Amino acid sequence: MRRWNGWGDESHSYAVPAKATTALNEWIGPASPKKDATLQEVLATVPKSRLAHAAFLSFDEEDRLRHARGQSLADWVALRSGRIGAFPDAVAYPETSDDVRALLEWAKRTTTRIIPYGGGTSVAGHINPDVDRGPCVTVDMSRMSKLLKLDETSRLATFAAGVSGPDIEAQLRAKGLVLGHFPQSFEQSTLGGWVATRSSGQQSALYGRIEKLFAGGRVETLEGTLQLPVFPASAAGPDVKELVLGSEGRLGIITEATVRVSRLPEREEFVGVFFPGWDDGLAASRTIAQAKLPLSMLRLSAPEEARTMLTLAGHERLLGALEAWIKFRGAGEGKALLLIGATGTPASVTFALEEALAITKKHNGISAGRTFGAQWTKNRFRAPYLRNSLWDMGYAVDTLETATPWSNVNATLRAVESALRKGLDRWNERVHVYTHLSHLYGDGSSIYTTYLFRLGATPEETLERWKVLKARASEAIVASKATISHQHGVGVDHAPYLQAEKGALGLTAIDSVLKRFDPTGLMNPGKLINGGAP
Ligand SMILES: Cc1cc2nc3c(=O)[nH]c(=O)nc-3n(C[C@H](O)[C@H](O)[C@H](O)COP(=O)(O)OP(=O)(O)OC[C@H]3O[C@@H](n4cnc5c(N)ncnc54)[C@H](O)[C@@H]3O)c2cc1C
Repeated sequence: MRRWNGWGDESHSYAVPAKATTALNEWIGPASPKKDATLQEVLATVPKSRLAHAAFLSFDEEDRLRHARGQSLADWVALRSGRIGAFPDAVAYPETSDDVRALLEWAKRTTTRIIPYGGGTSVAGHINPDVDRGPCVTVDMSRMSKLLKLDETSRLATFAAGVSGPDIEAQLRAKGLVLGHFPQSFEQSTLGGWVATRSSGQQSALYGRIEKLFAGGRVETLEGTLQLPVFPASAAGPDVKELVLGSEGRLGIITEATVRVSRLPEREEFVGVFFPGWDDGLAASRTIAQAKLPLSMLRLSAPEEARTMLTLAGHERLLGALEAWIKFRGAGEGKALLLIGATGTPASVTFALEEALAITKKHNGISAGRTFGAQWTKNRFRAPYLRNSLWDMGYAVDTLETATPWSNVNATLRAVESALRKGLDRWNERVHVYTHLSHLYGDGSSIYTTYLFRLGATPEETLERWKVLKARASEAIVASKATISHQHGVGVDHAPYLQAEKGALGLTAIDSVLKRFDPTGLMNPGKLINGGAP
């Protein structure tokens, strides 16, 4: 059963090792657990729905609570404290595109707001209702999860868009195929959500971001059905698919998505390479990314991240042994860790790893073999569970991300980290900050920063601390001329920073397109463009 006020399945937990507790004390100070609201207490706060009874709607209080918030830190504060603020008036569970079509016709007739809901894993406030805008229905797509069509010759698979990551891969694996889209939220996020937020998976180097995988589909809008035909490529003017990618539920509900799939790989390997310092690691990673080798993943952890992740995972002994070995080989404090993944045939994996490792050697890289790769593979979807355990101890964890050309990576990374480290000075609180580059391109890289801080004495104080940190870091991203999001999307949290990136004309153009599909502003209002373009 899914946790109602945290991450993931209730049956999984992530025990924080004793040494990690000591390290957290050192980094940001001792913390104490805060009292959480119980499910019963929160259910008692669900207000009466403003909608009249309809057979296709669920008014169940727990249903409404479970769809009220996503996974941003502000959502966590609300869920743990029981101060949810706004609930959907009802939840709908359509089973077909026709159900969705009928629901939208009803919404139009009754001027009811609609919030499309995939897995609810948004970390930017995408699915939260805004009560002031009038009654709203959250449309949970989980009953639309079937493989509808498979064109094995063309390697194209069409799914109902509410399908979750594990369900996609299970249905494809049975046919010897793989999609290969593995965001860290894979367990719970959905195909429709990935398209609507322009998501990026951990092995995007090989399979591509969702933009590359999404080949076409069907979108139900308030103004009719939008069919997106599938072509390998087309020069027939601007691509309407691009309007749907990143539309964040504002344009319509994606009911079907055709994706480009691949044969299941014969072999997959992840190896770790240490570098004496960040600059060596950065130069090697950039050179490998620009060499266009058939790799599936490059992930460069800055020194603080490498140390933090191993400590939190309880691998001090492994870390100690490796440190001794690396010191012996000439790399001391301040080392960076590059994980290199290769996926494909035995020959292509061997070729790609040999070429990449040869480049790392030229930049003083010391291969740590497959040990780190194996650890990463084991924990790749487990790490978010740590968030539950740390919260229970009194620590908040949040992440943010951006992307920028290589020539600007160092300056942006430093600006974001420094903004976060100083962010809680007014409370005299320390913030533990660490970063990795997770998606590396020929021309630049994404920058993914994690930060930990102590919960405040009250939920209001925790929320205020987070708001200050989020604002300082977002301002640093904008001042660095980097994108406000490489993969998490805009939602509510990033909407104030969108104009800096798109410009007033660009933002007005996006707003005009949304209005063409939704003239009265019923679809997920307040998200992406908050309150309309300038
Ligand atoms: C622990 C954790 C790890 C994460 N890791 C990653 C990562 O590695 N990479 C990454 O890209 N993101 C990541 N995210 C962010 C999040 O998982 C993505 O944004 C994901 O794409 C959201 O998918 P979802 O199905 O949960 O969508 P939801 O959260 O339900 O919705 C997100 C937005 O999409 C819209 N939407 C959803 N379904 C549809 C539909 N069928 N039609 C129209 N609009 C729709 C919603 O209205 C909303 O605006 C992570 C989040 C968490 C909590």
